[in-house]
Amino acid sequence: MEKFDEFGPEKILQVYDPETGMKGFTVVDNTALGPGKGGIRMTPTVTVEEVFKLARTMTWKCALADLPFGGAKSGIVADDKKISPEMKKKIVKAFAEGIKVIAPDVYVAAPDMNMAEEEMEIIAKTIGSKKACTGKPKSMGGLPHELGSTGFGVYHATLVAIKHLGLNVKDMTVAIEGFGNVGTFVAKFLSNDGAKIIAVSDSKGTIYNKNGLDYNKLMKVKEKTGTVINYVKCEKRDCEDIISIDADILITAAIPDLIKDKDVNKLKFKIISQGSNIPMTAETEEKLHKKGVLVIPDFVANAGGVISSYIEYIGGSEKKMFKTVEEKITKNTRLVLELSKKKNIKPRDAGMEIAIDRVKKGMKCRPMK
Ligand code: NAD
Repeated sequence: MEKFDEFGPEKILQVYDPETGMKGFTVVDNTALGPGKGGIRMTPTVTVEEVFKLARTMTWKCALADLPFGGAKSGIVADDKKISPEMKKKIVKAFAEGIKVIAPDVYVAAPDMNMAEEEMEIIAKTIGSKKACTGKPKSMGGLPHELGSTGFGVYHATLVAIKHLGLNVKDMTVAIEGFGNVGTFVAKFLSNDGAKIIAVSDSKGTIYNKNGLDYNKLMKVKEKTGTVINYVKCEKRDCEDIISIDADILITAAIPDLIKDKDVNKLKFKIISQGSNIPMTAETEEKLHKKGVLVIPDFVANAGGVISSYIEYIGGSEKKMFKTVEEKITKNTRLVLELSKKKNIKPRDAGMEIAIDRVKKGMKCRPMK
């Protein structure tokens, strides 16, 4: 187990049910700002160490998003592909029985790997509280990620970055890596504002047209053929060529480790907005910062999803969700960029300073539960 430090982990709960063979655990890292929030992953190899690291990431993400949530995460040790759907339901139910002692008071669950809304329904019903988890079906007040909360947040973070550099969205050219849930919504909102999407990639390749790609046509081609690569009137390139595009903005919305140290010198973007998680290392970000590229880190830009979870938790509507994502992402991105400028540190370091400060203040005012 990683070392305990001044922030946590506050609780590690191990649960076991001999009847189903369910083995699981929850790590509640820090609850200074509210109950620990974090998803449950079901994999055959999940460990307490892995879950602790993810719980710690949630502590900072929720703090920076300015939510009354702490950080937590859970693991259930099972092979989703080897168990029957009935057995999976039994295991999830047994896990929910096990975490009743902490949920929803100090832990609020959510889906992660191999967990979806059906499982969240079982958890909420078994625990007897809609507050026990988010990611529930719509019929139980769930706000599905198909609404596009994360992409909507990445779009607002990008708008703040554009203004921060004294630029105008209408003059911007944009490249988007990944055209799934996150990428499509960012493309929609930025093109509605008059930005020119000149390149888009998905798992089949990159398409490029310096005169712009039409959002509605992109959506049609993706829907009909499953990939943007069949878009007409464009150059076709390999997936990894998306980072060589000469555009003002890059939106990352697919894979981790997209940009490597060796790419830093050839990149031409003014802004990189991280919709995906960890598209580059902190060291690469530092080099880009020194080069004058404005990088909005993942935990600042892609917090729309966790903000949406909070609105679901308090029983809020879709309308309230969009309003809150816009307000919080805009406010927090501004704070991060101002601090980064003031101290001449990269935005990730500024974001961490703000998050740590908020958690420390919370710890002073609230005793551990
Ligand atoms: P998604 O599965 O809906 O879409 C992923 C897209 O990436 C697809 O278009 C796929 O074709 C494309 N892709 C796969 N490999 C690629 C490659 N090598 N090059 C270019 N494109 C490639 O996923 P999503 O929900 O949009 O999530 C995208 C990223 O954002 C992931 O890293 C995810 O962890 C992160 N993220 C998502 C959310 C959310 O709420 N959806 C929240 C936070 C972070």
